[in-house]
Amino acid sequence: MTTPLLGQMMDVPLTVSSLLAHASRHFGTTEIVSKRIEGDVHRYTYRDCEKRAKQLAQALMALDVQPGERIGTLAWNGYRHLEAYYGTTGFGAVCHTINPRLFPEQIAWIINDADDSYVLFDTTFAQLIECLALLCPKVRGWIALADDAHLPAVHAPMPLISYETFLKPHDGAFDWPLLDERQASYLCYTSGTTGNPKGALYSHRSTVLHAYAGALPDAMCLSARDSVLPVVPMFHANAWGMPHAAPLTGAKLVLPGKDLDGKSLFELMQAERVTYSAGVPTVWLGLLNYMKEAGVRLSSLQRAVIGGSACPPSMLRTFEEYGVEAIHGWGMTEMSPLGTLAKLNWEQSQRPPEEQRRLREKQGHVIYGVDMKIVGDDGRDLPWDGVAFGELHTRGPWVIKRYFQKDDSPLVDGWFPTGDVATIDREGFMRITDRSKDVIKSGGEWISSIEIENIAIAHPAVAEAACIACAHPKWLQRPLLVVVKRKDAEVTRDELLAFYAGKVAKWWMPDDVVFVNELPHTAVGKLHKVKLREQFCDHPLPSALEVENGPLSNERAMGGAESKPAAG
Ligand code: ADP
Repeated sequence: MTTPLLGQMMDVPLTVSSLLAHASRHFGTTEIVSKRIEGDVHRYTYRDCEKRAKQLAQALMALDVQPGERIGTLAWNGYRHLEAYYGTTGFGAVCHTINPRLFPEQIAWIINDADDSYVLFDTTFAQLIECLALLCPKVRGWIALADDAHLPAVHAPMPLISYETFLKPHDGAFDWPLLDERQASYLCYTSGTTGNPKGALYSHRSTVLHAYAGALPDAMCLSARDSVLPVVPMFHANAWGMPHAAPLTGAKLVLPGKDLDGKSLFELMQAERVTYSAGVPTVWLGLLNYMKEAGVRLSSLQRAVIGGSACPPSMLRTFEEYGVEAIHGWGMTEMSPLGTLAKLNWEQSQRPPEEQRRLREKQGHVIYGVDMKIVGDDGRDLPWDGVAFGELHTRGPWVIKRYFQKDDSPLVDGWFPTGDVATIDREGFMRITDRSKDVIKSGGEWISSIEIENIAIAHPAVAEAACIACAHPKWLQRPLLVVVKRKDAEVTRDELLAFYAGKVAKWWMPDDVVFVNELPHTAVGKLHKVKLREQFCDHPLPSALEVENGPLSNERAMGGAESKPAAG
């Protein structure tokens, strides 16, 4: 056997610190702007940020924090949180971003599972810290992301330290150590809508590769001419990589703090000439509603990625009317999180507008680094014909191979099973039809809850809609639509059902509609279908009552002539 001829290029490791070092050295005067929880707007540069991130690293090392140790953060998007990203990972510690919107018991469970040695928190969470300090006795210190003047009064078993006082003795004059790129960088837990939260432990290599791919033209398309506002929180899958892709490209970063309502976002976007932003549909809904009510338009925003849950086609159209390119994206915490984005190739972009829209409504095409396939119940690969649907499996250098603290691997033949049900068309565009747990199975046939919701949301009187399975004596499950009406708008159950005519097969039509004042959301702003199912599992569907109380033709039960026979 001959020894393979090795390349003769430098073995420079791909480390997270290199991203900030690059921005500090080559885009040193580019701004990072933060809306602070203190109420004002803070501005400084990548150069300032790197210096303070190094001060934080020195302060943590002075406390004898070792590489690999987890440092928790409970914070909104802001410059101190960004420093925590780099000041921990920079010397080999692991930045563990925690979702503060979870229940205190869940947060405590996560902190204990992660074995965090210190936790850095925004003062808005002071009360929460009182409770967590009792539940998490192994945490050695709680550091308030504030100066002494803003240190909250907290009854914790140990005194709080203010972040500014913590940093002060250190000068930031040291070089980031050269780490092994396979060392752990970030720890992110899934929000646990289905079972206990599970930790995804990223590496320096996976974080940097993900940042490269995320910045590409057919992903976020970032450059040094962009002003980037991550609406998605830095505790939700690293704000989808923007805190890394922005310094990689030299883009300006705008961090919105805790105010994510439509008006606050609009004003910040206008003031900072934001060109690119990304977030979940719920937040965009708030912004679009505000713009409509106030009769205003964004003058600088060029592109917005919408992901985290299915983006209703009507939302894509509204953005289009405002002259903003809205890009539907899909991913998950276990994938760092970017997987697919609905960007068209040259030939597709020459097609009639309606055809282009139909493609852009899908979750999209993979970016380099991610491979995907769909598999059937028997584990066999399914064809890419846009019709066959099965569980979506992925693989790539920023996809997990196992969960933190778990020995068994979730992989199937080397692929990660996402738990999403999807189709893939001939051109490689993927469409999520459901999360496997949310699937509605009527008479053995699957109905896509996402498609039913998208139609409801296109009705002018509907603000938000969720479609869930309700028990049915004959078909086992039938769809129930739960709707929040727009302010001052009116629509009846029958009018909404009539709106489905010609849009889906009749047996897909919801059996009933329930109007509510608001829908439950998870800690990351997605529809909380588990809660909805609990709430409405006993909802008396009219079709179910008729089956129980007397004869009913299949045709009526299923809404008309296109009824599907029960497949068992
Ligand atoms: P959690 O699992 O805690 O909700 P994630 O953000 O990791 O947190 O959720 C990933 C899941 O969100 C995906 O598996 C998928 O079900 C859903 N999701 C993400 N983006 C989309 C999208 N564009 N359309 C439909 N579902 C999406």
